Amino acid sequence: MERKAKLSKEEPLDLKCFVCGKKPEEITEYIEAAVANDTTVEDYVKTEEGTYNKENGHFCCTDCYIKIGMPSSDFGWIAP
Ligand SMILES: [Zn+2]
Repeated sequence: MERKAKLSKEEPLDLKCFVCGKKPEEITEYIEAAVANDTTVEDYVKTEEGTYNKENGHFCCTDCYIKIGMPSSDFGWIAP
């Protein structure tokens, strides 16, 4: 009997800015940072972007972060 692997925990997330909907590879700042860190844009956002929400893949790019008033919290603010 054939089994299908369940990917519930490792499902590829749709990484995007929750405000403008841009993906990491569309945001120059992350592309440049990824190149400088010798990593991929996705990995850069996942490891270095402070607003990255690992539950849903959302983050907030710098432009939008400023637009929404630079939210912060004692525990580190992450995109909803
Ligand atoms: Zn944005």
